[in-house]
Amino acid sequence: MNIEALQRTMMKKTLIILLFIVNIIHAQNRTEQNPNLIIIMTDDMGWADVGFNGCKDIPTPNIDMIANQGVRFEEGYVSFPVCGPSRAGLLTGRYQDRFGFTTNPSIDPNNPVAGLPTSEETIATVLRKANYKSAIIGKWHMGTHPDFHPLERGFDYFYGFLSGGHNYFPDQLTLNDLSEVTEKWQWYRTKIIENRTKIETDDYLTDELSDAAVRYIDKQAESDQRFMLYLAYNAPHTPLQATEKYLSRFPEIKDKRRKTYAAMVSAVDDGVGRVLQKLEEKGLDENTIIVFLSDNGGAKNNASNNGPLRGLKGDLFEGGIRVPFAIRWKGTIPEGQNYKNPVSSLDIMATIVSLNQIEINPKRTLDGVDLMPFLTGKNKGLPHDILFWRKWEQNAMAIRKGNYKLVANQNKEKYIPDLYQMDLSESEDKILKNKDKVYSELLSDWNQWNKELKDRIFPTLQDRWWTTQD
Ligand code: CA
Repeated sequence: MNIEALQRTMMKKTLIILLFIVNIIHAQNRTEQNPNLIIIMTDDMGWADVGFNGCKDIPTPNIDMIANQGVRFEEGYVSFPVCGPSRAGLLTGRYQDRFGFTTNPSIDPNNPVAGLPTSEETIATVLRKANYKSAIIGKWHMGTHPDFHPLERGFDYFYGFLSGGHNYFPDQLTLNDLSEVTEKWQWYRTKIIENRTKIETDDYLTDELSDAAVRYIDKQAESDQRFMLYLAYNAPHTPLQATEKYLSRFPEIKDKRRKTYAAMVSAVDDGVGRVLQKLEEKGLDENTIIVFLSDNGGAKNNASNNGPLRGLKGDLFEGGIRVPFAIRWKGTIPEGQNYKNPVSSLDIMATIVSLNQIEINPKRTLDGVDLMPFLTGKNKGLPHDILFWRKWEQNAMAIRKGNYKLVANQNKEKYIPDLYQMDLSESEDKILKNKDKVYSELLSDWNQWNKELKDRIFPTLQDRWWTTQD
């Protein structure tokens, strides 16, 4: 072999080695960019019922740890002020009215329409493309017909219940399944399901869900499997039920309802603590994004506290849609931030999709934003120019643009919104007059968005009928 040929061979070999190294680096980067995702969602929790939003009577040290070691969102919004649609938004990363999920669907296992349309991709379906395994532990609420079962919607594991609300004490779970329901609300009493099988439980439901979450993380860690866990506690949604273990922590709270509510939140906080502990034990802290939020604001019937915000669950005032919201990604998102620009629950999907560079069907574009550039300080701008809300049944609307909010809350005959400079009280005396230009600009933006939406596609939970024979 002449020298020239030898040089060529050497160069080829060097090139192959270089390519090999580049591939390894690329693979490592991919690992760093493909974190696990845990979404912990509470149900009907008040904005001011976590320590990181100033709660004094209910200690939430574990939930607070997520905010303290990551980011507290000052203005964290959900896409709807009631359970079902808010979760449909979270799970698709899209405004749920785009596919007609305008309110809570009827609980009807025979209705193949009353749920999250199968034409929509869930966060679990999408993450499967990046080799994630996904679990939902807790409340599903995305339809009870077999077509809507979590295992048909991209999830690999399900532990919980299909309907909206649920009883907490095991001796009250007396119905084998939804086929035994003969009247409205009895679905609160169905037995817990693991995948497709009913199981017997013997513990307080919140503790059962925490147990299942810890088991799941353990199992994924053992098999080195990348995962997404959607831990959807039904606490502190009614019925107000708590065990002595948690009630005894609040001897100083005299109001019985608030005391029980506090106990329910405390049980969730214990569960969050156990999840965090498990992540640390398994060395997953720096490879796991953990998000905490409530599905809507505090409700009238559960003794929650929305602090300075006007309104409650069901309202498009801040109290209905602004929720306790925090995110942690140790080692990547700088800790101890108080992020003040508005963010949305829809951003969770957009963020994880972007991190994994997953292609989204252009017919189902996401409405959220990748939050990472904003939380790592690379982008100092606003994640959202505009956020929208609509309650189709009530002719209610809201739009947030910059520091302005235009809102017409429920029970109005027509959309006659009021304009505010962002103000927590949203009181009559704060309504902005003589701002015709801003008013019409926001109304026009909202009307434009409204044209992209669908009317309701299913019977509602409030419809009078419930029989599986109908
Ligand atoms: Ca709720």
